[in-house]
Amino acid sequence: MKKEDITSIKQLLSTKKKIVIVPHKNPDGDAIGSSLGLYHYLLKGNHQVHVLVPNDYPAFLKWIPGNDTILKHDSQTKACNTLVKDADVIFTLDFNAFHRTGNMETVLTESSALKIMIDHHQAPDDYATYMFSDVSMSSTCEMVYHFIDMLGDSNLIDTDVATCLYVGIMTDTGSFRFRSTTSTTHQIIAKLIEKGADNTEIHNNIYDTNSYERLQLLGCALTNLRALPESRAAYITLSQAELQKHNYKKGDTEGIVNYALSLDGIVLAAIFIEDKKEGIIKISLRSKGDFSVNEMSRAHFQGGGHTNAAGGKSYLSLNKTVEKFISILPSYNKALNNE
Ligand code: 5GP
Ligand code: MN
Repeated sequence: MKKEDITSIKQLLSTKKKIVIVPHKNPDGDAIGSSLGLYHYLLKGNHQVHVLVPNDYPAFLKWIPGNDTILKHDSQTKACNTLVKDADVIFTLDFNAFHRTGNMETVLTESSALKIMIDHHQAPDDYATYMFSDVSMSSTCEMVYHFIDMLGDSNLIDTDVATCLYVGIMTDTGSFRFRSTTSTTHQIIAKLIEKGADNTEIHNNIYDTNSYERLQLLGCALTNLRALPESRAAYITLSQAELQKHNYKKGDTEGIVNYALSLDGIVLAAIFIEDKKEGIIKISLRSKGDFSVNEMSRAHFQGGGHTNAAGGKSYLSLNKTVEKFISILPSYNKALNNE
């Protein structure tokens, strides 16, 4: 972010503003963590601040400080739309294009508020007055830390801000193991712990609160795991019937794709999850090294994301989607085998 932008934002936030913070649809740990981290920080500036999420998010995120103040656009549409229309400033966090907010796209597009984007996804749209977009960043939470620091306010980071930001850095880096994790990431994490983030408690709240049914669903997913060693790829499927059998709840499939990527020699992993209500197969792609699942998803599955983690969708049946995935692999053979 340019120095002049920081000066302008500092000036902008020097007087009380009506501020709305919006992350992407199906918010994950980074989306919720960055939104609430920024929320707690902005409250200290005496602003009126609201976090509006497009829809619900997993239960393992519902302990994060400020969770109870979040408004959901799909069930509280009128209140959310009014807040967006009345806002002076809208922060858009952890996404690169309004369509990533689902049904909030229209009200955001029509809003005349000043927009500030903080995001680490590739190919950002050009809607924001101030854009802090950096694909090299581990997480939007790490960027919110830098943002607060650039504004000269790191002294305002308290236990609540630190806890929220720790969550997103931890979840988006796969607990500090993905390539996006740098020494700076670790330095920030150290500072967040110093500010009061309880690392053991946070890991426990996110990762060790599984329901029995979720673990049974994981067992089902692992049974469905298929390896394609000639393409160095592996995939998992979950049908709607399988999800129902295990009393699927939002968030239950989070992270399962990483088991496919953990197979020795595999550099590309996918999970295909049937969603009959939305009429789609939700796809998550993960990779190791330079193989870009962002490009694969953009080219074939109407999605995108990062080099090593991307999402997408398919309107074909579950079987046909898997067939399509297998059929495009030969065209990536060279890239996959170079890894
Ligand atoms: P997931 O597989 O967990 O849904 O998504 C992996 C990563 O890709 C996340 O950072 C997510 O925000 C991003 N992502 C998922 N779907 C899309 C999409 O349709 N477009 C873009 N640009 N990014 C996506
Ligand atoms: Mn993120």
